[in-house]
Amino acid sequence: MLSLDVPQNASNSEFVHNNRILVVEDEDVIRDMIVLALEEEGYEVAIANDGRVALNLLQNATGGSDRSFDLVVLDLMLPQVHGLDICRLLRYQGNIIPILMLSAKASETDRVLGLEVGADDYLTKPFSMRELVARCRALLRRQNFGAQSQYSVRKYRDICLYTQECRVIVRNEEINLSPKEFRLLELFMSYPRRVWSREQLIEQVWGPDFLGDTKTVDVHIRWLREKLELDPSQPEYLITVRGFGYRFG
Ligand code: CA
Repeated sequence: MLSLDVPQNASNSEFVHNNRILVVEDEDVIRDMIVLALEEEGYEVAIANDGRVALNLLQNATGGSDRSFDLVVLDLMLPQVHGLDICRLLRYQGNIIPILMLSAKASETDRVLGLEVGADDYLTKPFSMRELVARCRALLRRQNFGAQSQYSVRKYRDICLYTQECRVIVRNEEINLSPKEFRLLELFMSYPRRVWSREQLIEQVWGPDFLGDTKTVDVHIRWLREKLELDPSQPEYLITVRGFGYRFG
């Protein structure tokens, strides 16, 4: 039969092989067991023995040419930088990588705290490798699904805009925008380098019924520049195009 040429789980194993997991755990025995279990499932695994190495790997992978990770298995008690702080810092910087947190503590507060600082799931030691693999698979599936669905992040240089959450991170810090400023920035970031006239911006952001004048646009651009630009008098993001209007980037 022809169908015998194709392994039954061909699409599944192909999917698995594309995923890269970072395992952060200082205890050699546990780390080796996790790595072995994940590699047996076909995942590509990298390791970090302490918090600082983990942060370096994660931050370089997202900023540079290194291939980034699809999931982090993160122990809570780590030398150098605590697991909770790693988690908090990554989320603060706008990094949305799925995090499975590991802890020897079974208390409810730790679990809640872990999830509160942005971990996606939490596993208490001792756990079976079968359970760990199942949790990883579930998180990766959710992540891959999320990437294809409407969840969207617009990124340009050091600005990160989360359309669903209405949040904007600039140089690793969250900034506060009014709804109009947010809509304006979202529009600009959706069409980098496109030149918009003031009238077009009014129509898109304020709507066709807006009765004010186009000076409103200039005022909002000025406010946005003050929040986004290193030097608002020398804008690098929101550029004035003389005689036409504005563009982003
Ligand atoms: Ca540990």
